[in-house]
Amino acid sequence: MTNVKELLEDYGIDRFLEYVGAEKIRKIGDNFRSCCPIHGGDNSSAFSYHNGYFTCFSECDRNYSPIDILMIVFSLSYPEAKKRLEKLFGQEIENEDTSEITYENLENKKFIQDFKKLKESQKQEENTEFCLNDLATYQKITHEYLINEGFSDETRQFFDLRFCDKGIMRDRVVIPIDDKNGKIIGIAGRSIYDFRLLELTGQSKYFFSKGLKKSNTLYNISRADRYSDYLIVVEGYKSIWRLHEWGYDNAVALMGASLGDKQLKLLLKFNLPILISGDNDKAGKNLQREVVGKLSRYTPVEEFPIEKITSKENDSIAEIKKGDFEEWTKKIMGKYPKKILF
Ligand SMILES: [Zn+2]
Repeated sequence: MTNVKELLEDYGIDRFLEYVGAEKIRKIGDNFRSCCPIHGGDNSSAFSYHNGYFTCFSECDRNYSPIDILMIVFSLSYPEAKKRLEKLFGQEIENEDTSEITYENLENKKFIQDFKKLKESQKQEENTEFCLNDLATYQKITHEYLINEGFSDETRQFFDLRFCDKGIMRDRVVIPIDDKNGKIIGIAGRSIYDFRLLELTGQSKYFFSKGLKKSNTLYNISRADRYSDYLIVVEGYKSIWRLHEWGYDNAVALMGASLGDKQLKLLLKFNLPILISGDNDKAGKNLQREVVGKLSRYTPVEEFPIEKITSKENDSIAEIKKGDFEEWTKKIMGKYPKKILF
């Protein structure tokens, strides 16, 4: 009986790559390169075959056995993937041969576990709804995700962030969303998994509670400092948390890259000059233009030049340095007179 490596090479590396959906397959000498069928992307040199294993030199940065690839791409268990490979090769694979390349031995075990877990919760997603009442059951902990993103327990408490480990909101940081009076009107759940896993499993980065109309409120509206010199308007939750860590509570988030009519009215009620900061992408730029176009008739609006601070696509205030934020903000907003309080 032949081992997996020989069977695979007899079958054809390019054929196998095609079977698992790899794009831009190219032959270079005796070797094959393609885009990575695991994380996708359009780098046609990212994925390479060598001596029975495939390596992704890009996002994944790790080795995959043929069985690993089948497990991830087709969402199979180890025995199912082994059977699939045997069918493909038209020959049985010896257990002792495959024992060396089971995912148990590889560092990508966690990746595959997370993947399977996410796949399961996706099934659940189809027939479950979650309600506002569930909020009380979520854990009040500073989850590793928040710590890794550089947020303190004080910030977690300030925004009343929770963590959910079961049900439809499983493995999500739970974000209560309130109206201007501080009444909770909805929940957002931010997945703790990275974009690769979310893309692979077709999961959304955010879930929202039933009936929540994001365009009817602004995130952080009830806590936002109305006696500041100006108001900072951002797209997402993370930027609000970051600004809080830096000592800026004069900020609200639109919870997306669009401005609703109700949101526009709520912004004007602050009666403050506005500093709008969209994310560093096309949608963010469009949002900035929209806010300037719709609000500058009523109040001064300035655009925060995120593209001058970071070159990374999608970056927001949450990803930049405090010093950079303050340097630019001083330059832009310094000209507005301080509010005089009576
Ligand atoms: Zn990859």
